[in-house]
Amino acid sequence: MKALVAEPIHNAAIQALKGLGLSVEVSLGLSRDALCSALGSGAIDVLIIRTKVQADRELLNCWKGTQRLLCRAGIGVDNINLDAATALGIAVINTAEASTQSVAELAIGLMIAAARNVASQDRAIRIGAWKRQEGMELSGKTLGIIGLGRIGSRVAMLGKALGMHVVAHDPYIRDDRFAEFGAEKSTLEDTLGRADVVSLHTPLTPETERMMNKARLGIMKQGSILINTARGPMVDDEALCDALDSGHLAGAALDVFPEEPYKGRLLSNESVIMTPHIGGSTSESLERIGMRLVEQIAEFLRAGHTSALNAPLVPTGAEDLVVLARALGRLCAQLDGPLHRITVQASAHGRVLTHAAVQGALSVHQEGINLVNALAQAQQRGISVLTGQTEPADKQQPGELQVMVNETLAAGSVQGGMRITRIGEHTRLDFAPQGSILLLWYDDVPGVIGAVGTHLGKADINIKRMVVSDVADGNALMALAVGDALDAEVMEGLRERLKEFGLSRLAQVRL
Ligand code: NAD
Repeated sequence: MKALVAEPIHNAAIQALKGLGLSVEVSLGLSRDALCSALGSGAIDVLIIRTKVQADRELLNCWKGTQRLLCRAGIGVDNINLDAATALGIAVINTAEASTQSVAELAIGLMIAAARNVASQDRAIRIGAWKRQEGMELSGKTLGIIGLGRIGSRVAMLGKALGMHVVAHDPYIRDDRFAEFGAEKSTLEDTLGRADVVSLHTPLTPETERMMNKARLGIMKQGSILINTARGPMVDDEALCDALDSGHLAGAALDVFPEEPYKGRLLSNESVIMTPHIGGSTSESLERIGMRLVEQIAEFLRAGHTSALNAPLVPTGAEDLVVLARALGRLCAQLDGPLHRITVQASAHGRVLTHAAVQGALSVHQEGINLVNALAQAQQRGISVLTGQTEPADKQQPGELQVMVNETLAAGSVQGGMRITRIGEHTRLDFAPQGSILLLWYDDVPGVIGAVGTHLGKADINIKRMVVSDVADGNALMALAVGDALDAEVMEGLRERLKEFGLSRLAQVRL
């Protein structure tokens, strides 16, 4: 398998990737066309990017391959079209935790630098001016945090350590998180109106894009400071320039910009401190990001999946259940179609088992279906997907897993080995969910087993395993694991031979 490193990552991570047996190509700064053609070669399984490469629909469409992993080294996936990746079956991962401390430290550093006019005085001293500017102490002041997630909460704690009073706005977290980080919960407007320093820590979403517009900057306290280490498009840079020029804001410090590299009006404003998107750029953070990527890629190589942002995590210990769900989906879809409804009943791990069952069902007639794109593809085809919760028979063990496609139900278990135990009304089956399986529904009369064995023997078909279900309404179901799939002639001959035994259905499935 091959990884293409398209943006810089820590050297230790590149070495570790090679140690996994991956062939690693480091091609930094490829043009879009060159990247597209590299991805189109079908040779790239893992693509590693940071913030520069725009993984939009067009680029993702270029990427040929069956199992593809797109790795965003760092936090935030606003340069990735997740919907397109999901539809194409490309798993997307990032390294959410790895740069939290570095970004939080930068936010605090920028706060102090802005409060003490460090950058402008540094510039002045270099041109021979020795003029002290009066600054502001942070202790005793109010720090307003917008977005109390990983970084925002770390900034809150560091702000508390400086003696600041912390007010925070985040409508998407539980109330107890505010108390946990010593922050007072507030509305956006109230936070902006009360804070001496406002620090932004939300993701870039339609709701947060240009969140700090003219009106919101106007609500900010006279003489206050704005810090943005989150994402550039959250601040209207023209409106910020006006707010600084008018003296409404005392200063601003920005690590992120509407376009990067930034060429706008703020460049000529003395009250702004600017850094070129370095929040996560510390050696500690870069090494953590790289090694976290390696862990996830290793999991992808080992198990064929990983805890992607756009696919459910396969929990440790649930791997066999996932394989079983996929096989049950495949089995049912070969017995019933066209697909219009898929239902999964499980005692645990319902989400991932549903993805797997849908993957199995769709893969009967469609190529390129995986855990990532299964549900999106089902939705696109108008197939309704439902998940139900069942009680496990034994609290320590997962119970029976049931998958129903349209009206056809199949069930299985992983207790005592992975096996299929039920098809429709027919219970007490016991066969492994793999290979070619021949299924025969017939009247429960003597002589069927012999007739089937003789017919298949004459056709040189090896029977690996044969099970007969419990009888339901005088009808039995026989399942045979056969070495090779039966051709149409052998199937037709068998159908003729079993007519006298009341054969009601003969089917062959591939699991
Ligand atoms: P996170 O997901 O842990 O936290 C984001 C928080 O914002 C969440 O608690 C969420 O509930 C909250 N939120 C979402 N929408 C909101 C809204 N409209 N109003 C208020 N709160 C809202 O993310 P994180 O890891 O803390 O990252 C925060 C930001 O920092 C992201 O934009 C990320 O891209 C950015 N970041 C920048 C750098 C850098 O180099 N400067 C590095 C890493 C991360």
